[in-house]
Amino acid sequence: MKYRRTQPGCIDSINAAIKDAPNITTRKYIERYWLKTRRSWANFGREHSPLLMQVTSTNANESWHLVLKSAGKMRKGNKPSYSLGGVLVLIEECAVQFDRRADKRALDAELKKLSESFEYSFLNLFPATIQFLLLEEIRSAKKKFYSDHGETRELGTDFRCECHFRRAYLLPCEHEFSSQYLHRFTPPDYEIDWKAAADQFDESGMEIYWTRTKILVSDEEVFDRWDIQMTHQINNGEKLELI
Ligand SMILES: [Zn+2]
Repeated sequence: MKYRRTQPGCIDSINAAIKDAPNITTRKYIERYWLKTRRSWANFGREHSPLLMQVTSTNANESWHLVLKSAGKMRKGNKPSYSLGGVLVLIEECAVQFDRRADKRALDAELKKLSESFEYSFLNLFPATIQFLLLEEIRSAKKKFYSDHGETRELGTDFRCECHFRRAYLLPCEHEFSSQYLHRFTPPDYEIDWKAAADQFDESGMEIYWTRTKILVSDEEVFDRWDIQMTHQINNGEKLELI
């Protein structure tokens, strides 16, 4: 029920739990601590928020607690052996180490990014999450090109592809990349407009994968035609949260 995306859906799931509760105490517990506080913990309450708030895992918290416990040699059941000042020093030391680790990771990511965006400067136009998606497409295209020259997928008359990646992420795919950068048979007029592709994210970030879906659902005429594509977009929107 935590992951239900709408409030009615979440309430449905809570009510199902209440209905299946083995006794009145459990039922009352669910009503009091789950139903009434649903806005504070359920996903529907965070749907409007930036990507970070939609992270559903508590891993970051858990690892912070683990660092505190192991640095302070604390075990469950042990009597606390720290003064208030000692606790503050411990937290400070752990926080510094945590920040150092985060800086190192950011630097590693930056270095990794630079090596490829030096060659393909259009990558810099995109949000980091999207850069990684595009990098995978570029690497895949190169791998095929350098192994057997077998990039034979036929592109549309506008030199756009219809593959799963293109439809799901609304981005240039490995086939379009391959055509333009490796085989060089894309006529200049049809070259990929990277700026237009990147502009999609300017206004609403990753939400394009949700809002596009909503528009398509409300349009009855194209609903059938887009049904399968829409499903892909939902799935990939969900996958993006995990990246
Ligand atoms: Zn393609």
